[in-house]
Amino acid sequence: MGQKGFVNNAVGLRFRNIRDRIDAIRHYGGNPPRCACCGEDQFSLLSIDHIDGGGNEEREKLFGDRRLCGHDMYRYLRNNGFPDGYQVLCYSCNTGKRDNMGNCPHKVPAPSPDEFLRLFDVLRVGQGNWAATETDEYQAAFQAVQRKWQFGKKTEGVSEAD
Ligand SMILES: [Zn+2]
Ligand SMILES: [Zn+2]
Repeated sequence: MGQKGFVNNAVGLRFRNIRDRIDAIRHYGGNPPRCACCGEDQFSLLSIDHIDGGGNEEREKLFGDRRLCGHDMYRYLRNNGFPDGYQVLCYSCNTGKRDNMGNCPHKVPAPSPDEFLRLFDVLRVGQGNWAATETDEYQAAFQAVQRKWQFGKKTEGVSEAD
């Protein structure tokens, strides 16, 4: 019988977690909820996205841990009356947005794998070959790759540039 209370508590906790997730996703994603980018409506594929892209930074500020997500995030949103600035994205669009300077590739074309390989090829001029780094082609390639890295840095809370 002692075990029963434990099991019930575990079920209660699990229910609360799922309820918080459902409430948050319904609040930000409509009912039935959909991905704001591609319209995906499979509930298990939906996630909360911080619209400005400051996800990790915000999590660190709120919870003291940038890796924290999921239940703590959903509970935070619920306990704070679902503040503005969030939307529902599917995991694909969430990843695409993070990886493409804050815009899902569905909306803003991302460099293709071939394009990235070409950019790195342009950047590989050899050490000390400064003249080669001053060509327009080199600068353009550097900017393109740099922008991608900068967005990644920004979400890590390192740079506020741009
Ligand atoms: Zn999507
Ligand atoms: Zn998308």
